[in-house]
Amino acid sequence: MLRTGFAVVSAVPIGVLVYQSLTFLSSSAAWDGPAAVPQSNGVTVFDDHSPSVANLDADLLEALRRAATDAAADGVEFVVNSGWRSPEYQAQLLREAVSKYGSEHEAARWVAAPTTSAHVSGQAVDIGPTAAAAWLSAHGAEYGLCQIYSNEPWHYELRPEASEHGCPSPYADPTQDPRMQQ
Ligand SMILES: [Zn+2]
Repeated sequence: MLRTGFAVVSAVPIGVLVYQSLTFLSSSAAWDGPAAVPQSNGVTVFDDHSPSVANLDADLLEALRRAATDAAADGVEFVVNSGWRSPEYQAQLLREAVSKYGSEHEAARWVAAPTTSAHVSGQAVDIGPTAAAAWLSAHGAEYGLCQIYSNEPWHYELRPEASEHGCPSPYADPTQDPRMQQ
């Protein structure tokens, strides 16, 4: 089986593979579009040297670290696909989303403006891979970690009251979030 798989892969010119890998990494490693789900740049919630982790809200980070420690005991590793973002980077992501989705209206379902993004304020994190998001879906509320948007199963924010009362119902997408109406 392995040999068959290798033969298929090696039939593709190496240059194409390299190009696709680079495009994959540069264009979709750290934004809220659907393609972000399986991404991983290997940054964990314990990586103090990564600005995307170090600049997160301290309470959110503490909750993430407690959850990640318990998830690891279940054999699940958290990867930070995107955490804190600079306003400039958020603006770039929004421009790319408008280009990708064809309109500002459609882009707004996936990417917030720099002035409203919870990533820019350090209060949101996109967690992967899928197994980690699934673990959070089942256990996150115990740590106050809640999915906020139905269309973004990887995007988590801190809702401290969730540990007692459960997470609030998610918005369908960010356009339904009053915080995005500013
Ligand atoms: Zn997000």
